[in-house]
Amino acid sequence: MSSQMTDCRHNVVYAGVFNLIRGFGVLGVVDAWTCTHCDEIWCDGRRLGVQEIPDEVGLPVRVQGTEWAVMFCDDGQKTDWNLLQVKRGEEFEHSCAASPQCRITVGDDWKPNCSLGDHVNHRLVLVKQSLNKNVYV
Ligand SMILES: [Zn+2]
Ligand SMILES: [Zn+2]
Ligand SMILES: [Zn+2]
Repeated sequence: MSSQMTDCRHNVVYAGVFNLIRGFGVLGVVDAWTCTHCDEIWCDGRRLGVQEIPDEVGLPVRVQGTEWAVMFCDDGQKTDWNLLQVKRGEEFEHSCAASPQCRITVGDDWKPNCSLGDHVNHRLVLVKQSLNKNVYV
């Protein structure tokens, strides 16, 4: 089943949510919407404390061939997370509050392999596999 984004007149419904949890705290919440005709998926991430939920129409469109994922980074002291679109085998530059810039290669098993080795613990959490679950990081 391929996503024909131009051919489908999407009927967007709420698909679910997952919580990114660390210890006893919720770091963030990812909401997802799906189409009842095709398997397209839209996502939006909320940091704790940010309550407004955006209009679905304004949400970013997934690039075909990619999957929505949360990149979670932990340097042992600081953590950060970002919602990304990733592909198996893809290489991209990454930096965030917990990670200086490095180059990530996405493995066939969706594991992020970092050019700098173990300087930061990077994790990729696929949205589709995590909906309506709590993800402990
Ligand atoms: Zn659709
Ligand atoms: Zn990061
Ligand atoms: Zn890295």
